Amino acid sequence: MKDRYERQRLLREIGDRGQERLLSSSVTIIGCGALGCAQAQLLVRAGVGSLRVVDRDVVELGNLHRQIIFDEQDVAEGLPKAEAAAGKLRLMNRDVRIEPVVLDVNADNVRDVIGEPDLVLDATDNTETRYLMNEACVEKGTPWIYGGVLGTEGLMLPVLPGRGPCLRCLFPEAPPPGAVPTCESMGVINTAPVLVAALQATMAVRMLVGSPPEPRLTIVDLWAPEMRQIEIEREPSCVCCG
Ligand SMILES: [Zn+2]
Repeated sequence: MKDRYERQRLLREIGDRGQERLLSSSVTIIGCGALGCAQAQLLVRAGVGSLRVVDRDVVELGNLHRQIIFDEQDVAEGLPKAEAAAGKLRLMNRDVRIEPVVLDVNADNVRDVIGEPDLVLDATDNTETRYLMNEACVEKGTPWIYGGVLGTEGLMLPVLPGRGPCLRCLFPEAPPPGAVPTCESMGVINTAPVLVAALQATMAVRMLVGSPPEPRLTIVDLWAPEMRQIEIEREPSCVCCG
């Protein structure tokens, strides 16, 4: 019998068994900007069982160039991103339980906000929230996938607690405010978050079907274009996982 996942079931990497696992999986996405919009669409279309999307902001005109789930109507209505995204995601796949959460993630609520999913996807735009997510996920033993974008470049690292390095092994300290450029100061090409989100979503599917990736850092430059991988060692003196 044909179903919406037929081409995904055909993949030997996924198959019927992998698809069944996906259908009973749960994912939390922290952030619903450029990375989160693309991740959410891909995972909902792939058929995860449930998806929580967390974001505190409302949709603005300056988001539309790269936040590919939103449109001018959302800007006119001033909708919270998590709720606007949830409405569209439900139209893409009614079988997925979508849970929008409009909230500013902080040290007090991060554990509750994450919940108890099979994995967490990073779609934030700041180091502070990533460190909170890293700490909470390492503590819970929940895998999460770091993604970052700047200019025409991007980074992706699956964090597998107990099996590989965490974000603090890679970046022990946050840079002082203003010391490094951000997308706000330097800009971003709209293809970079889409590619990084695609890498994160693919790693997510691998983990959810029981085929976890090697914990390596992937570095992409879309302008060149170029993609490479670096081995990152777990840091024995890491403040988070050491
Ligand atoms: Zn660490």
